[in-house]
Amino acid sequence: MVAEASFSLSCFNTLRLTSTAQWFARVESLADLQNLLQWARARNLPVLPLGEGSNVVLQAHLPGLVLKVAIKGILLQRDDGGQVRLRVAAGENWHEFVAWCTEQGCYGLENLALIPGSVGAAPVQNIGAYGVEVADWIVGVEAIDAHTSEVVYLTAQECQFSYRWSVFKDKQGRSLIITAVDFQLNRNAPVEASYPTLTAALTATDPSHQDVFNAVIKVRSDRLPNPAKTANVGSFFKNPLVAKNVAKKLHLQFPQLPQYETDSALVKLSAGWMIEDLGWRGKARDGVAVSEAHSLVLVNRTATSSVAVLGLAAEIQQSVLKKFGVELVLEPEILGVNDGGLK
Ligand SMILES: Cc1cc2nc3c(=O)[nH]c(=O)nc-3n(C[C@H](O)[C@H](O)[C@H](O)COP(=O)(O)OP(=O)(O)OC[C@H]3O[C@@H](n4cnc5c(N)ncnc54)[C@H](O)[C@@H]3O)c2cc1C
Repeated sequence: MVAEASFSLSCFNTLRLTSTAQWFARVESLADLQNLLQWARARNLPVLPLGEGSNVVLQAHLPGLVLKVAIKGILLQRDDGGQVRLRVAAGENWHEFVAWCTEQGCYGLENLALIPGSVGAAPVQNIGAYGVEVADWIVGVEAIDAHTSEVVYLTAQECQFSYRWSVFKDKQGRSLIITAVDFQLNRNAPVEASYPTLTAALTATDPSHQDVFNAVIKVRSDRLPNPAKTANVGSFFKNPLVAKNVAKKLHLQFPQLPQYETDSALVKLSAGWMIEDLGWRGKARDGVAVSEAHSLVLVNRTATSSVAVLGLAAEIQQSVLKKFGVELVLEPEILGVNDGGLK
């Protein structure tokens, strides 16, 4: 197994930005991964795992070794007729896995249908949609530490999941390359259809899990640009979480700004509403635009560099801060360096 030098990642990120990895390799087995990690350590190269590139903003150069994690396989570990435990390799496609589970009558993940990306990346930002987070169904994550090649296992609790966050985004978890995710699904799981957009899309009075799966696909296809046709990374900003007293003040000033209670002491605000209120929908700069269909999504029409994407994002952040006093945090990861950043 050898890595390729100066590898173009233009087709490996859904924003379709021009970016070159110093070294690149596709990893299809644990043995490949161990060998490549050893190779990178011998050369003192940083290692960066990549899934399907649907939540990253790639800058011009990615120093070190970029590993496209393509390890496949689904292993049934236990099925007692109710609870079903599965070990799923990191390189499996997320939506195909969700479709397979729904077909097999293993429920829990159907609200997360059609989210682009790989199974291995799902725990990284704790993907979520339509009232469900993947953390609700994960029991553990297997990973390899790039610094030592040691195989580690993190329980769901050790993953420290919260809204669009996990230990894998933190300093201590950054060296971990996820190789498999353990899910505990449920043949008798209740249908989760309380999210308003989803409820509105469901026609059956007593919807099944399959109905929810189909409705999620319909709603997403109507509202979100398909990355195969339009370059984007889904929501570009997280919904901000603010203290209750801040939320109260904002409510007095902007009574229409949607606010959502969370499990913590913080209140979640709708980033999309604030962006919309400021008139950003459809606005374009340097080949990048705020989607006409969804104001949280930036679409890349003609830009080749992250500079254009991040420039528009910064303008939006500044205008939201100015009007609402709220800081918007980017959802995708910015990876690599731009020209001038490499020695
Ligand atoms: C149209 C669209 C809609 C979307 N909708 C949603 C949504 O509803 N909810 C949601 O949460 N997200 C959504 N996303 C974002 C994205 O689909 C998810 O974050 C997805 O999990 C990213 O998977 P990926 O394989 O493409 O990861 P990548 O973009 O390749 O990587 C994302 C991050 O994970 C790290 N990573 C990748 N693989 C591994 C691994 N094996 N081990 C360790 N780290 C790894 C990368 O280094 C990077 O930091 C959407 C994106 C698009 C384009």
